[in-house]
Amino acid sequence: MPIPPSLTVVIAAYNESEALPLLHPRLVQALAGTPVDARILYVDDGSRDGTWDALQRLAESDPRVSLLRLSRNFGKELALTAGLDLVETDAALVLDADGQDPPELIPAFVEKWREGFDVVYGTRSARAGESWLKRATANAFYRVINRLSDTPIPTDTGDFRLLSRRALDGLRQLRERQRFMKGLFAWVGYPQAAILYERGPRIAGGSKYNYWRLWNLALEGITGFSTVPLRAATYLGLATALSAFAYGGWVIAKTLLWGDPVQGWPTTMAVMLFLGGVQLVALGIIGEYLGRLYLEAKQRPLYLVRERWPRD
Ligand code: UDP
Ligand code: MG
Repeated sequence: MPIPPSLTVVIAAYNESEALPLLHPRLVQALAGTPVDARILYVDDGSRDGTWDALQRLAESDPRVSLLRLSRNFGKELALTAGLDLVETDAALVLDADGQDPPELIPAFVEKWREGFDVVYGTRSARAGESWLKRATANAFYRVINRLSDTPIPTDTGDFRLLSRRALDGLRQLRERQRFMKGLFAWVGYPQAAILYERGPRIAGGSKYNYWRLWNLALEGITGFSTVPLRAATYLGLATALSAFAYGGWVIAKTLLWGDPVQGWPTTMAVMLFLGGVQLVALGIIGEYLGRLYLEAKQRPLYLVRERWPRD
């Protein structure tokens, strides 16, 4: 009998003690319907609500489950990185803990992978349970990032995806601290396939992302995958300088021709404020990039592990 291919399902969980006991049986059932040797790796991202205890109960009752606990809350992107770093199987599949990525779709992912695709990602056809505002901002975000980024990033695609061994090995070489996973997954390349699905509401608990966190994630995506804002700052500066020179010439010519009775406070103020504003904007953009450079330069580890299960 041929050895079946192996797959690890990686799930980052932060304060998901209510959702996990609901998700796990669904996951086990879905995996039973696939021709793979499946394992499950839960990453507890520094939860404070008994998620670790819930996970240990799951691990004790199921030998295919292993656990990783980070030393504090590092955020989903790093929790996933920590989990993916441990995967030893032929493929990895990333799933949200809240049931918004239905585990029932896993057989379809596996099928695409067996057909030869290295990356299979879930694309949302509907976003049930999400407000009008969230949908509109998400739309705008994808439009902006795809205009700016050098790597095309599939629209309405979250972290629900399957990676083949070589795609995973590629991803693991990207060790930047400021991790925008959607972009990193896309950067890896290889044959990719999309699976359409309807993203339902959470099964339990509340979202860990507020608008401020999403805004920061969007900035991460844009600065991590594009230097267009820097170039825009250059052009903005250039255009301003040119118009300032033209205006300067006009002021000199005017004075020479007609003399200068003391006047011009409004124009002076207008020019000063305008130039000051443009400079601040450009400085801010440069600062964003410089700050990221600084963070990368420190070369800190991406995450720290508190404990693992099974213990080694
Ligand atoms: N998550 C995490 N660390 C965090 C925040 C979230 O591991 O700091 C996990 C969370 O437990 C869930 C997934 O990331 O499994 C997606 O989070 P959430 O459902 O809150 O995001 P949303 O679906 O609202 O975008
Ligand atoms: Mg969710």
